[in-house]
Amino acid sequence: MDLDLDDRAAGFRDEVRAWLAENVPKTPLASFDTATGFEEHRAWEAKLADARLSVVSWPEEFGGQDRTLLEWVLFEEEYYAARAPGRVSQNGIFMLAPTLFSHGTDEQRHRILPAMARGQEIWAQAWSEPEAGSDIAALRSTARRTEGGWLLTGQKTWSSRASFADRAFGLFRSDPEARRHHGLTYVMVDLRAEGVTVRPIPQLDGEPGFAELFFDDVFVPDRDVIGEPGEGWRVAMTTANNERGLSLRSPGRFLAAADALVREWRDAGRPAGTAERVADAWIGARAYQLYTFGTVSRLEAGGKLGPESSVNKLFWSRLDVDLHETALDLLGPEAEVGPEWTDGWLFSLAGPIYGGTDQIQRSTVAERVLGLPR
Ligand SMILES: Cc1cc2nc3c(=O)[nH]c(=O)nc-3n(C[C@H](O)[C@H](O)[C@H](O)COP(=O)(O)OP(=O)(O)OC[C@H]3O[C@@H](n4cnc5c(N)ncnc54)[C@H](O)[C@@H]3O)c2cc1C
Repeated sequence: MDLDLDDRAAGFRDEVRAWLAENVPKTPLASFDTATGFEEHRAWEAKLADARLSVVSWPEEFGGQDRTLLEWVLFEEEYYAARAPGRVSQNGIFMLAPTLFSHGTDEQRHRILPAMARGQEIWAQAWSEPEAGSDIAALRSTARRTEGGWLLTGQKTWSSRASFADRAFGLFRSDPEARRHHGLTYVMVDLRAEGVTVRPIPQLDGEPGFAELFFDDVFVPDRDVIGEPGEGWRVAMTTANNERGLSLRSPGRFLAAADALVREWRDAGRPAGTAERVADAWIGARAYQLYTFGTVSRLEAGGKLGPESSVNKLFWSRLDVDLHETALDLLGPEAEVGPEWTDGWLFSLAGPIYGGTDQIQRSTVAERVLGLPR
């Protein structure tokens, strides 16, 4: 691809930068793992939507600007560089939406996406179960046929943002006789529906960043099934490939952190002991940026995200841990004074786990990308 931006992309980048400089809150919002912070972040999503900046690459009819994926990557770079608030809508915008674009009906897209783009409906991902994390095909929660829809029963866990979210997308076993990866159905469910119990799980900091979800004969109408009943695994791979390969973790976040690390290193008098690791983090973030430009070029030429998304996930999850460990070593006890580096480090530790653990990604790369024997 041509790395020189055309006038349209360069102009958009300038517009985004100017808007963020004007509008990013001067005082950080409360954490979106708290009830107050969640609502503050919801209001921020609405403000982004008013400026048509919440989903820039979506078609205009759903609240976007019909921007290219490259322009979306540029938007993300500006967004993180401006230290704008975390996206409380990220599960919906970056995982469910690409799934609906690929597998949803027109009715579903029109019903779901505009409300998602404005933060009116915030989504949680309900996949993991107590005995089905890495081995998601082992899930036991069921969807049973009933008139006009399905009845959900079972338990999900580690659902980020579900403590306060409005709806969830999840996988349920609809054919108990089918082989493991078959007979799964992908549904959207209202977390306030009768029969749903949301039990918050506190994180290390005590805030309920996760929840367990219990379903007791919860009715889901047919119109809330994505793709064909029983074909949920195929649909779920679209979600997972987006989570790992592009949209959930764009380079902007790592570029901003690497640039901040370089500034810290200069301010600390350029200590030789950490010079190489700081340079590695900076180069790693730029390498990921270039790789992402390659990914968006491929997608814009009609390509699809496949198992190579696992390579991407391994790269960014390792990069994030290394970058934050370097920052902590560089700053020593000073890192504990402000929350920025310690919070970032704590979150980086989750990178090799969520979205499929790094061990599982390595197996996927070995078997499905390199063709090695199981
Ligand atoms: C910050 C965070 C947010 C999350 N958010 C969500 C969410 O919103 N929705 C959701 O549904 N889930 C979410 N999860 C859950 C996450 O997807 C699971 O934790 C993950 O899939 C791993 O599953 P597990 O925890 O059950 O671990 P296990 O599957 O029990 O794995 C334990 C260990 O064994 C290893 N292991 C297991 N099987 C194999 C194998 N075959 N080969 C090699 N090694 C193996 C794993 O790599 C891991 O190191 C989140 C997790 C975190 C940390």
